Amino acid sequence: RYMTADEIRQTWLRFFESKGHKIEPSASLVPMGDKTLLWINAGVAPLKKYFDGSAMPVNPRLTNIQKCIRTNDIDNVGKTARHHTFFEMLGNFSIGDYFKPEAIEFGFELLTSEEYFGFPIEKLYMTYYPDDFVARDKWISLGVDPSHLIPLESNFWEIGEGPSGPDTEIYFDRGEEYDLRGSELIANDIENERFIEIWNIVFSQYNAKPGTPRKDYKELPNKNIDTGAGLERFACVIQGTKTNFETDLFMPIIEHTERLSGVKYEGQMAFKVIADHIKTLSMAIADGAILSNEGRGYVLRRLLRRATKYGKKLGLQEAFLHLLVDDVIQIMGHFYTNVKENEKMVKRVILAEENKFLETLASGEKHLLEALEGVNELKKEDAFKLYDTYGFPIELTLELSEELGKTVDIEGFKALMERQKELSRASRNAENSMKSQEAAFLSFKTPSVFIGYDTLTSRSTVIK
Ligand code: ATP
Ligand code: MG
Ligand code: MG
Ligand code: MG
Repeated sequence: RYMTADEIRQTWLRFFESKGHKIEPSASLVPMGDKTLLWINAGVAPLKKYFDGSAMPVNPRLTNIQKCIRTNDIDNVGKTARHHTFFEMLGNFSIGDYFKPEAIEFGFELLTSEEYFGFPIEKLYMTYYPDDFVARDKWISLGVDPSHLIPLESNFWEIGEGPSGPDTEIYFDRGEEYDLRGSELIANDIENERFIEIWNIVFSQYNAKPGTPRKDYKELPNKNIDTGAGLERFACVIQGTKTNFETDLFMPIIEHTERLSGVKYEGQMAFKVIADHIKTLSMAIADGAILSNEGRGYVLRRLLRRATKYGKKLGLQEAFLHLLVDDVIQIMGHFYTNVKENEKMVKRVILAEENKFLETLASGEKHLLEALEGVNELKKEDAFKLYDTYGFPIELTLELSEELGKTVDIEGFKALMERQKELSRASRNAENSMKSQEAAFLSFKTPSVFIGYDTLTSRSTVIK
């Protein structure tokens, strides 16, 4: 049955609410009081405090729809059917309340019941941790064919010391037309778009102790459930589109880009990258992130520049990304009201950055044309200067030169880049050794307090 993304969100929340879960509002993409994360990258991330016991939830059953950014997926965007830099994660959580059997039952009912998503059972495949017969048998007892259950060593979730445990992941079979490998489920196979991972159910069951074998991990007194499902992937499967991008979560942006450029979409990667990146930029800026040269700000700057470059491929020579903010608001604004409330600010920030980058490109282009005058090959020093001094991307140097029937001494350029890297490495090392000398000096001057022999011994090692 066809559902809009909105209906999918509401169906998820309605189901888990009916099972006694309290709805948690989506937290900001910018982590609050968590220095270990650049961005909120999963539904559980803002709920960590409940999992590590530092806070108690009002209700031990929670459900949410969490805005997420994953920078590790930047290069996948537009290449796979299913990866974005910004996406929405649907989740349900049990903090010491229900555990494995109930979590699997909930998952099964929500996915297969006609009252909810109504997926045909034969389209679903599950992976499980090889030792986890409880999970396997539970799926079978619900009617899943054993041939649809795949044991996978990688189905174990842990990040350092603390709560960890096996997981079971649910895949949707989109049919042979998407098969690039032969009809076998190969989990996490980037090429194969037939079996799409839609949901991960984690059984937070052990206290992980890195360095000891898993079988020796102690059971947690409180067993938790942490799950995450991708809204865009649900929409793709339910709306029957080729990739996530043809769903109602992206199509308005793509259609606007078609109108602006006069180019037809036809699945082209440039449209996908632009749609993905403008969504990430709008949502992150609305959450208070700024553009800068480091950390979060640098991620956003990179996304904007990348989207601009893809725009150029479609012939979009002037600032256009800020115009697409309207579409992001149309798609997201009623659910994430802050992006609508901050509309003017979001547009202003994006337009200013677009113009700045376009200026960089224009001045780079001018310098490139000058450097190419009277030569057939761009000298390595010129290519390097364009990149290093004018911030002109080397891909554009190559493209433009080629258009003019000229070549670039790219090997020479690479050698200069290498040399620069070595120089900066060397200076960084010099800086580091200065810092460690400084640290040793400082700790030497610190009046020594007796806190134990170990501390004193290691301190004297530092000074040496
Ligand atoms: P994949 O293997 O496809 O990269 P994952 O195993 O890294 O996904 P999880 O960390 O298990 O993903 O996250 C839970 C769910 O969130 C996934 O099952 C998927 O539906 C969704 N998801 C994860 N990463 C992305 C992404 N970059 N874009 C869109 N949805 C995603
Ligand atoms: Mg991944
Ligand atoms: Mg995976
Ligand atoms: Mg997964």
